[in-house]
Amino acid sequence: MTARQTAIAEIATVKVAPTQDYVEQAGQAIFGQYVFNDEAQRAYLAKPIHRKLRRTVEGLEPFDPAIVDAVAHAVKEWAMAHGATHYTHWFVPMTGSTAEKHDSFLAPTGEGKTIAEFSGRNLLQGEPDASSFPSGGIRATFEARGYTAWDVTSPIFLQVEPNGVTLTIPTAFVSYTGEALDHKIPLLRSQEAVGTQALRVLRWFGNTTASRVFTTIGPEQEYFLIDRRLAEQRPDLVLTGRTLFGAASPKGQELEDQYFGPIRERILAYMMDLDRELWRMGVPSKTRHNEVAPAQFEMAPVFEATSVGSDHNMLVMSLMRKIATRHGLMLLIHEKPFAGINGSGKHNNWSMATDDGENLLDPGTDPHESAQFLAFLMAVIRGVDDHADLLRAGIADAGNDHRLGANEAPPAIISIFLGSQLTDVVEQLAAGAAKGSRKGGSVALGVISLPELAKDATDRNRTSPFAFTGNKFEFRAVGSSAPIYWPQTVLNTAVADSLARLADDLERLEPGDMAGLGTILSGMAKDHSKVLFEGNGYSEEWHAEAARRGLPNNRTTVDALPALATDKARSLFSRFGVLSERELEARTEVYWERYVKVQDIEASTALDIARTMILPATVSYLGQLAAAGSSRGVAAVADTVAGLADGLVDAIDALEAAQHAAHEAASVHEEAAAFAEGVIPAQNALRAAADALEAVVADDLWPLPKYRELLFQY
Ligand code: ADP
Ligand code: MG
Repeated sequence: MTARQTAIAEIATVKVAPTQDYVEQAGQAIFGQYVFNDEAQRAYLAKPIHRKLRRTVEGLEPFDPAIVDAVAHAVKEWAMAHGATHYTHWFVPMTGSTAEKHDSFLAPTGEGKTIAEFSGRNLLQGEPDASSFPSGGIRATFEARGYTAWDVTSPIFLQVEPNGVTLTIPTAFVSYTGEALDHKIPLLRSQEAVGTQALRVLRWFGNTTASRVFTTIGPEQEYFLIDRRLAEQRPDLVLTGRTLFGAASPKGQELEDQYFGPIRERILAYMMDLDRELWRMGVPSKTRHNEVAPAQFEMAPVFEATSVGSDHNMLVMSLMRKIATRHGLMLLIHEKPFAGINGSGKHNNWSMATDDGENLLDPGTDPHESAQFLAFLMAVIRGVDDHADLLRAGIADAGNDHRLGANEAPPAIISIFLGSQLTDVVEQLAAGAAKGSRKGGSVALGVISLPELAKDATDRNRTSPFAFTGNKFEFRAVGSSAPIYWPQTVLNTAVADSLARLADDLERLEPGDMAGLGTILSGMAKDHSKVLFEGNGYSEEWHAEAARRGLPNNRTTVDALPALATDKARSLFSRFGVLSERELEARTEVYWERYVKVQDIEASTALDIARTMILPATVSYLGQLAAAGSSRGVAAVADTVAGLADGLVDAIDALEAAQHAAHEAASVHEEAAAFAEGVIPAQNALRAAADALEAVVADDLWPLPKYRELLFQY
């Protein structure tokens, strides 16, 4: 039997084994079990210290260094009670995955014994040798020091493994010179920026109760699961997370029988284990279901404050991977693991909320609330329109290029879907036509009167990258593998900019001047309606229409990233203290480098597979055909295969030449362009040649597990 056949025979005998006592381990009993949450803090901290810490966590006062040793002691006691032996500072460098370095609590006493030690300083600050993390040139190797600093707003947690426990402290990662080297710091700064500006607007509306505004995030996460025994036989999946080759399966997603379909026992067992682990970590996992493509699934959490929700999404992705391995599965979180069927995204549900519980994008029930809602809504619309190029850049990477605009995901054009009722309101505002006050819950805004706004603004549009869904926006163009810090940082900053201008304008009016407000909003509607689009985002007409409206359409990462190097971008990010010019430049450089590296790895992997797996299989088959005699049928097949083999060899040479040419580029930007324009088309041609061979070469000779096996046999 071939390795593929052996794997499939084994998969056929897989039985789901119970892993948990699900009655005793019910959701409520275990939620937050691994988190140093309020309950644990209460149990391990003296009352006044606990109270102080809570106020800091809630953003109400800065951290008091006087309590740090007491907190560290409590954290250590709590962790050791759970079996922890080590601690780590956990951070998100610009690699896009999380990083951690473990240290044990062990401190020798000098008499052949040890005690457990964990000081306030250990909690507050770490000093990883940072020289191997991408910095975009900020940190020269001679000043390689970087610091991790405890992020008090994100809960401390335990990583519990079968053989031990690690105390894990979420941190921010800065250079020796104080510059952000991670994804967390800019996000926290952007939260501050948007919160400050939103509060100014709220105050104009007479709100005196809120002391803080923050953004909320509920990221829906799509993913694929396939059997590990098959996946491990594909170097492309192992190294790049996506299939670089593979003829279409005779059956794909056309029967539409997967979406919300019954969940296979083996997958449900995985999802149940995943949910339990997430709950223990305090991640409020809520929804699980089959997605559109075969072997594709989705989970969604209950929304949280953006900094916590973003950390939690990293935990979701890493736990998904870990638990998949335990279940003999491989997690594919790439945006486009398979050609010809849907890829995966992340739908970032986003809103702004006050610390006293008001959702600022909730239309509310009375006219005053409606007017305030409309002001925030228009501010978001303007922010997105003004900075559509940056939002596009914020979701740009090699993986997402395969998905955006591919008739399954939003186009690369950033537009906003509002639904018919709100579109009508904005159109009235833009027209500025005075209307008589309507009966009931309407408010005269001078230029228009606001109808009562329905919360369930009913209509949905799957083709929009940025859609209003009743009381929040859904940023639907984010890649499935992306850490969400950066896209949310860009969005927060764009909206902060727009809110700051709105606050400036409002503060020139008397409080309560609704007619004045109407004039401001009317002007905003006039200038920014062009970003609103209710139609089919997949259609050709929209591309033409968007061009006519002057909306940016940056199709690839290479087209999108230059937006980050404009004066507009530099001024925006530095004005709101989110990224200094140097930090922005460094970050952008990291994105360029990353794009080139990913494309380079993919090209090398494709060449390797083509030369050492696909070509040899083809040659074997030609040998078999030659040995099979010279009947007309055999000769015809041999002819076809020989022709395709020639094509394969030519395509290998062409890809190698294109890759070589790209390496000769003078700068990383030129290299990226050479990959986009030269290497990717050559790689696509190589794939086409190989996929054509897959369709004719004898099945038992084919070395790579096929789409029909990967997608349906698990
Ligand atoms: P829908 O079905 O309309 O997409 P759901 O209620 O299923 O809406 O929510 C989808 C996601 O949006 C969930 O993760 C949910 O927690 C999140 N969400 C709901 N309200 C908000 C909000 N105010 N801010 C951020 N995310 C939210
Ligand atoms: Mg949704």
